[in-house]
Amino acid sequence: MASKDHANSSHATFDLFVQAKTCQEVKQHFSELCRQLQLDSKDFRGFYTKLKERLNYWKAKTLWTKLDKRASQEVYQQGTACAQNKCLVLGAGPCGLRTAIELSLLGAQVVLLEKREEFTRNNVLHLWPFTIYDLRELGAKKFYGKFCCGSLDHISK
Ligand SMILES: Cc1cc2nc3c(=O)[nH]c(=O)nc-3n(C[C@H](O)[C@H](O)[C@H](O)COP(=O)(O)OP(=O)(O)OC[C@H]3O[C@@H](n4cnc5c(N)ncnc54)[C@H](O)[C@@H]3O)c2cc1C
Repeated sequence: MASKDHANSSHATFDLFVQAKTCQEVKQHFSELCRQLQLDSKDFRGFYTKLKERLNYWKAKTLWTKLDKRASQEVYQQGTACAQNKCLVLGAGPCGLRTAIELSLLGAQVVLLEKREEFTRNNVLHLWPFTIYDLRELGAKKFYGKFCCGSLDHISK
């Protein structure tokens, strides 16, 4: 019973993390999820594997499937291509975030710094077909179901 309650609360926190609208909410729910699953967010090498093992939730599994498919591309050499590299990315704009994801897939230890504490500008970023495809393959629809439905070809940042 206790472990079922434990699972239910981590599933609920995962849902809150996915639905989070502000930077503060994202950070708050991520920290809570790590606490509930006893995960060390600084354990960059083991984090993803342990998260997958401990968060046994169907909604999360659909995201793992997307990410694993992407990570299996030959160029990443199973996450070892840049395993010796430590990378600092400055700025969590679209370019910084996407760079950080790519470096992580290559196996680098990535730290991303953003000087702003909140995102207040109403950004409506135009997406080209190849950026829509790229973000879809990284599970964007799992976070925002209406992502680029029909003729919609933009997203907020
Ligand atoms: C007013 C305005 C309206 C726009 N409207 C549109 C639009 O409607 N549609 C559209 O497609 N594009 C629009 N753009 C363009 C779009 O915002 C950019 O193309 C896009 O944001 C560029 O992404 P980026 O990651 O390169 O830079 P940015 O989005 O600028 O991200 C850079 C990030 O780095 C952070 N940063 C900077 N220096 C440091 C530092 N030293 N340490 C830590 N963090 C740092 C900044 O706070 C920022 O969050 C608009 C731009 C502006 C300025």
